[in-house]
Amino acid sequence: MQREQRTFIAVKPDGVKRGLVGEIIKRFETKGYKLIGMKMLDVTPEMAEKHYGEHKGKPFYPRLIEYIQSGPIVAMVWKGFDVIAGSRQLMGSTKPLEAQVGTIRADFALVKEYNVVHGSDCEESAEREIAIYFTPEELCDEYENMAEIVIEKLDEE
Ligand code: UDP
Ligand code: MG
Repeated sequence: MQREQRTFIAVKPDGVKRGLVGEIIKRFETKGYKLIGMKMLDVTPEMAEKHYGEHKGKPFYPRLIEYIQSGPIVAMVWKGFDVIAGSRQLMGSTKPLEAQVGTIRADFALVKEYNVVHGSDCEESAEREIAIYFTPEELCDEYENMAEIVIEKLDEE
């Protein structure tokens, strides 16, 4: 199925410290996505630079690199139909004031610099980001859940 995608989602250090891990996971689970990888870790300087390489040179880059290393993150891989765009929808805009009420960033963040969650923005970034944080062996895709039942039904149509 072409629209079946994987994405990299992380609860950022502020989200972990504020006790939002469960709340954020819940939103992806109840949406119907399939969790195929998860770990808590401290981001190394090398990981931070790889992850946010596209922003190098921007004024907010040094603070962003410091922020993502300011405590452990919870790194996850989620799979499902259109999961990349769907995750961005669940997260809301980068700037919490521009995010729709009901999204994670509108509901739990005040400023763009501390916006509690990360999600890949396209398939290429998703695969690149997944590879920074996970080896293929760390991903568990051998069980069926709702995300796959939906895709199978669409395939039959
Ligand atoms: N960011 C920031 N200031 C800005 C823009 C972005 O601190 O003016 C941070 C913020 O944490 C954001 C991350 O850099 O989530 C990556 O920026 P991007 O534009 O890729 O936003 P995202 O994809 O996370 O919505
Ligand atoms: Mg981004």
